Amino acid sequence: MPVPLDYTRRTLDDIRAGSPEHVETLFTDLRADFDAAAAAVDTAGAWKSLRDAWLGRKSGILSAITDNWLKPAPPELKRAVGAALNQIKAHVEAVIEERRLAVEASADQLALAAERTDLSLPGVARPIGTRHILRQTMDDFERIFLSLGYSVAQGPEIETPYYNFEALNIPETHPARDTMDTFYLDLPPGALTQYLLRTHTSPVQVRTMEKQQPPVRIIVPGKVYRRDNPDSTHSYMFHQVEGLAVDTDITFCEFKGTIEYFIREFFGPKVKTRFRPSYFPFTEPSAEVDASCIFCDGAGCRICKYSGWIELFGSGMVDPAVYGFVNYDAKKLCGFAFGLGVDRFAMLKYGIDDIQLFFQNDVRFLRQFS
Ligand SMILES: [Zn+2]
Repeated sequence: MPVPLDYTRRTLDDIRAGSPEHVETLFTDLRADFDAAAAAVDTAGAWKSLRDAWLGRKSGILSAITDNWLKPAPPELKRAVGAALNQIKAHVEAVIEERRLAVEASADQLALAAERTDLSLPGVARPIGTRHILRQTMDDFERIFLSLGYSVAQGPEIETPYYNFEALNIPETHPARDTMDTFYLDLPPGALTQYLLRTHTSPVQVRTMEKQQPPVRIIVPGKVYRRDNPDSTHSYMFHQVEGLAVDTDITFCEFKGTIEYFIREFFGPKVKTRFRPSYFPFTEPSAEVDASCIFCDGAGCRICKYSGWIELFGSGMVDPAVYGFVNYDAKKLCGFAFGLGVDRFAMLKYGIDDIQLFFQNDVRFLRQFS
């Protein structure tokens, strides 16, 4: 910090040559220098420089004045120089403390201003997860069938060939096994039981009937696996909902009514249902269920290949041979079963043309259905 007054030997000579009035003038100038320097202090760094420049023990200005003005002063001026020095020292200390408080207060103000929360700013919207479109579709199925008195059953995704095929009337040599290209799990050395990834949810029918005597009314939502080449309508893993009703007085009429009710509840009241004779190993008679095209209301369009109908799923009355595997009395019981593809239903209902979209986890796709 530049000090305009020369507080060195020359000033001492001035003091020696002067009078008490001259001493007073010198200290008045000194005080004016200090006040000007103190007024310019506005940061912690400038304040520290000011303090060191004026109060520093070795090189501070007040130390220099003690050494250069007071100590060598002639006896007749010593008293006046000493009194003036004490005065300016008290003034410098008081002002420096005052400046310290002022600088700290303004630093606090700056920090507060920097940290201030602007309550009028818009908030940050955090992404919130929602149910996947397939989960929503399965929830719809469950809601509809629960209202008809069905309950929801579950079973393992790793199955034995017995539950996946044999107990469903699909013996080893049956051609239906070829239509379900199956993932078999590697056999550990010495293992006797073969395991596979279930190709449909139908094994849960068998597992439920083993444990529970009729009446049985269940739906089974879950994942199934087939060695399909992935394309817009095929995936290694997809979702089915199996349905099974077995009781002593179930007719084809109840079967048809249940399916028609379900289709209308899911797709809307205008949709019509059609049953076509078909074949499945575990139902007899078997029916392929079609719905009137939801895109053209049955008038014919590209999606329904101008037939007005869309093929939905397979179903039928439970083949009595299946009851034999679970010790049900085939003479007293009858029932129906169906298995539908959840992915296909969701694609039809929401106009999605590629099954792979369900599994790519692209939120831009998924959030359209949340
Ligand atoms: Zn159509």
